[in-house]
Amino acid sequence: MGTGILLVHHISVISMEEAIVIHYASFSFVSSIVISLLFSYLGIYFFFQKRQVHRISPMRNVFSSIVLGLTISLMHFSGMNAVTFSNSHQNAFNNGFNSFALAIVISLFAFVIMIFTIFYSFFDYHKITSEKRLLQQIRDSEDRYRQLVEHSPDPILVHDGQKIIFVNDVCLEMVHASDKRELVGKRIKNFIPLEYKEMMKDGLEKIKAGKKVKPAEIQIFTLDGSLIDVEVNGVKILYDRKASIQLIIREITEKKKIQRKIMENEQRYQSLFKYNPDGVFSLDAKGVITDVNPFVEKLLGYSKEEILGMPYEHVLDDKSLDIANKSFNEALSGKPQSIELMVTHKNGHKIPIYITDIPIIIDKKIIGVHGIAKDISKEKEAQRKITELAYQDQLTQLPNRTCFYKEIGKVMKRAQEMNNKVALLVVDFDNFKNVNDTLGHMKGDLFLKKIAYRMKGAIRKKDNIFRMGGDEFIIVLENVTVDEAREVAERLLKEMNQPVPLIEHEIVVTLSIGISMYNAATENVEKLLQQADFAMYSAKEEGKNNYRFFTKDLNEKVKRKHHIERGLRRAIERKEFKLYYQPKVELHSGKMVGLEALLRWNPSFGSVSPNEFIPIAEETGLIVPIGEWVLKEACRQSFKWKQHGFPKMRVSVNVSARQFKEPEFMKRIVNILEETEMDPHYLEMEITESVMLDAQDSLQIVKELKDLGIKIAIDDFGTGYSSMKVISSIEFDTLKIDKSLIADVENHRSMSVLKTIIGITEMVENIQIVMEGVETEEQIHFLKQFNLVVQGYYYSQPLPSEQLEIFWNQTLQLDPK
Ligand code: C2E
Ligand code: CA
Ligand code: CA
Repeated sequence: MGTGILLVHHISVISMEEAIVIHYASFSFVSSIVISLLFSYLGIYFFFQKRQVHRISPMRNVFSSIVLGLTISLMHFSGMNAVTFSNSHQNAFNNGFNSFALAIVISLFAFVIMIFTIFYSFFDYHKITSEKRLLQQIRDSEDRYRQLVEHSPDPILVHDGQKIIFVNDVCLEMVHASDKRELVGKRIKNFIPLEYKEMMKDGLEKIKAGKKVKPAEIQIFTLDGSLIDVEVNGVKILYDRKASIQLIIREITEKKKIQRKIMENEQRYQSLFKYNPDGVFSLDAKGVITDVNPFVEKLLGYSKEEILGMPYEHVLDDKSLDIANKSFNEALSGKPQSIELMVTHKNGHKIPIYITDIPIIIDKKIIGVHGIAKDISKEKEAQRKITELAYQDQLTQLPNRTCFYKEIGKVMKRAQEMNNKVALLVVDFDNFKNVNDTLGHMKGDLFLKKIAYRMKGAIRKKDNIFRMGGDEFIIVLENVTVDEAREVAERLLKEMNQPVPLIEHEIVVTLSIGISMYNAATENVEKLLQQADFAMYSAKEEGKNNYRFFTKDLNEKVKRKHHIERGLRRAIERKEFKLYYQPKVELHSGKMVGLEALLRWNPSFGSVSPNEFIPIAEETGLIVPIGEWVLKEACRQSFKWKQHGFPKMRVSVNVSARQFKEPEFMKRIVNILEETEMDPHYLEMEITESVMLDAQDSLQIVKELKDLGIKIAIDDFGTGYSSMKVISSIEFDTLKIDKSLIADVENHRSMSVLKTIIGITEMVENIQIVMEGVETEEQIHFLKQFNLVVQGYYYSQPLPSEQLEIFWNQTLQLDPK
């Protein structure tokens, strides 16, 4: 520009050289050049200096124009000052340049500069327009960015490294702010809980350093102080041409909630599955095992790898297949099922388990079945043990009474359906109590065990034997004929003929068997059992060691028995009892030395022998009140005789073993003695050997009776099993030899036995020996060789008291005193 002005000015001056001579002052000429160049520079400098600012201000233009104008003026002034004009052309020319050549050079120079300036201006213009365009583009993209950010559905925040410089509306909403001013200018760390601060700081620093950072899941505070879960995604941006960080903050509270829920569910599922103390497994819809927990591996002995992919049938016991399939299908149709079944361990053994099948429902579709398997071996074993205990006799290992009642119903039903016969054998040991008493209970038990085993061997395989208690057994024979039942009974009896070897002993016992056959007429089990019982009792009555079928006449007997029993119950109140008295006479003197009170019963249906009703009274326990009545009545009678002036006489009453067992027995005796003012020294109790066998503390009772002064007689001596033992163990006063021993006087053999017995008993000091059942002259003759008391028809039948008094008076007359 400066050059241009210079050229313009000086060319104009030179052009005037035709007319005038120009003289140049060298200082002013140089200063005009300096001024022109310096000021042009300044003008242009000011013009371009503020070009960075977007808009071109009018002030700058004006200022630049002034500087430029000033430049031209100053240049012109100093240029003019540098020349002096004169009219001598020659001089002037000689002192200066060749004016033509100078004009050409300067013109060329000016031309080049013009071209250069035009070029420069062109490029400069071009540069300016493209800058403008870029600026516009930036402005546009910034606008777009703002719009995008403002309308973004995600909360966006821009952060300059210290403070928040921008937030969008969604972001405001997220943190419960209502105005941007509530956030802009605030420090971002104020919104972050302590535990995330460090992480956030790191992240921001990394972003700032231009590193890529993964989205972070953190929590932030909202303005109302609550915490929300967010996912923060940061990126480095230029905001207002400054390096900033843009954060996209997505609220993920819901997602987190779901995630937590899922995790919880997963954990719950895991703890249900993995840590379940029971087996847990999954099956797909085809029944293929898709998952198992460690317990299943343990239970079945397969590893997880081995078992996955197996159909469940593989591990089931064949018998459980049907029930398992049913349960599985039901579960697949949506109904949970619980079943018990058997699985097979890898090593082959069976395990009982309790399974619950639950449908797996995903998206409302059943895709398989979950199963929970509980090992119930222990429960089953306990159950088995309980049943065993409940149904098995512990001593003999035979099924017991409970088991019998459980089974017999089924047996009868089967017999009905198949229309065949069932035999019920009631087996009772004859005199088993003797065995127990002689051997003691330990050996008694061993004995029972052995005979139980032996009996089991004597019956058929399919038959069942039950121990009903004590020495009573029942055998049930299914599908048998009467003959077959008889065969079994006979075999049993025969088996028992063999002595049972026990340590130090060999024992022979016999059985009595009662058999009842089940048929349509049999009402029920009780009846069947009762019939067999009756048959057994009648077998015993008929001499033991045999068997008896229940028959019609046995039925008659049974009926009579019931009849008698019923009658006995009311006999006392109906005053149907009466005591008869049979005298005991001293053989040598013929003197009456005692009386035996014998019970007579006269019910409305005709008198019944004591031999018939006493056993029934004993069996039913009715003998206790009856015996008491007898005792009282005998004492009362004794008192009456005393009143009637008869001399004191020993009165004997029969006492059953059953009465001894009554706990109140002694007390009652004492009461009766007091009540009837009976002198105990004149009262005798006749007991049989069975008393000694039945009651454990019989000896003690006998002692107590004796302490009271009451006399003891052993009745029916010579029939029992351990007569000699009784003689030595009981302090008795009288021994009554059983009438069976004198029955046949003609028989020398039995007479010598009797002789021996009497001989032995005579050796016991201070006892009276009574011979019972003496009827004939011959018997008296035989007995005369001994010093005895005799009782029997020979002297008198048992008589009612009034008649006895007559007999008594007669014997009194015999007495010389
Ligand atoms: P026992 O104690 O052996 O009584 C003797 C039985 O022999 C009596 O039978 C008696 O009548 C009978 N007798 C007497 N002399 C002769 C004779 O010369 N020849 C024959 N063949 N028999 C004779 P009874 O009175 O029928 O009594 C039968 C059994 O009933 C008694 O046998 C006794 O065990 C029992 N008994 C009778 N009364 C009572 C009682 O009050 N209480 C108890 N517990 N049992 C009684
Ligand atoms: Ca008697
Ligand atoms: Ca007797």
